Amino acid sequence: MLNIGCHLSLSKGYEAMGEDALKIQANTFQFFTRNPRGGAAKEIEDDDALALAALMQRNHFAPLLAHASYTMNLCSSNPQTRTFAREVMADDLRRLQALPCKLYNFHPGSHTGQGVETGIEQIADALNMVITPELDLYVLLETMAGKGSEVGRTFEELREIIDRVELNDKMGVCLDTCHVFDGGYDIVGDLDGVLTRFDRIVGLERLKAIHINDSMNPAGSRKDRHAKIGQGHIGLEAFGRIVNHPALKHLPFFLETPNELDGYGEEIALLRSLCR
Ligand code: FE
Ligand code: FE
Ligand code: ZN
Repeated sequence: MLNIGCHLSLSKGYEAMGEDALKIQANTFQFFTRNPRGGAAKEIEDDDALALAALMQRNHFAPLLAHASYTMNLCSSNPQTRTFAREVMADDLRRLQALPCKLYNFHPGSHTGQGVETGIEQIADALNMVITPELDLYVLLETMAGKGSEVGRTFEELREIIDRVELNDKMGVCLDTCHVFDGGYDIVGDLDGVLTRFDRIVGLERLKAIHINDSMNPAGSRKDRHAKIGQGHIGLEAFGRIVNHPALKHLPFFLETPNELDGYGEEIALLRSLCR
C-alpha cells in the first residue's frame, strides 16, 4: 500500500491533523514546526501528542514529516540570521521530542552570494552544533530546485554537507520531485538513471521521504513552482513510475500541491489508483 499524505496546517492541533488526514484516506501528513511568520513556537501539549500517537497506531500510520520554516537560513551572509536559524532549529528539535515524529526536513539554505562551498561549510557547522548523540530523529536535507543562491540542488552538494556532519548517522534526504526536476534531473525520461546516481553519490539508504509535486515549469528551469499531480511538466505517467519504483515505493510520500483538503483527497486517490 502506498504511504501518502499531504501538507496540513498546524492551526487546530496535532490530533486534529491526524483526523484531517483520515478524512482524505491519507496515512501520514506533513506539518510546519512553527508559524512561518515567526515568533516563539508554542510548546506541544502532551495530551494532544498522545492522542495523535493513539490515532496513528489505530490507523497504521506511516512516519510523519515535520518541515522547518523555509525562512530559516543556516548559510546567510548575515551572521545574526545564521545564529537565529540555528537557534530555531535547536528549539524545533527539542520540541519535537514530544511528538510521534522521527523525521525533520529543512531547506539547506541560500548562500546569498558567499558561494556554495562557504554555504556548505556553514550548514554543516550549524548541524554539528544542534545534532547531539541523544537526538532520536533523522534530520533530512531537502533536494532544492536551485533558484537564487539555494544550496542543495545537486546530489553532490547534499553529500558534501552530510560528509561534514560528525553524527551523520542521523542525517537523511527528502527528495522533492518538483525540485529535482526543476534542478535538472530527468525523472520523467530516466528515473532509473537519476536514482542510480542518487544511490552512487548520496546512498539510497539516506532517502527517508518524498515530496510528490508536479512542476509548472520545464526540466532544468530552477523555478520551484508546484503544480497539481498530472497538470504540470512531470505528468501522470512519470508519477506512475515514481510510486511503483522498487527504490521508492516503501517511503512516505507527501503532497505539497496547490490544493485544499478535498483536492488533496482526490490526488491521493489518483496516486493510489496508479499503484500496481
Ligand atoms: Fe520544502
Ligand atoms: Fe518540498
Ligand atoms: Zn518547492
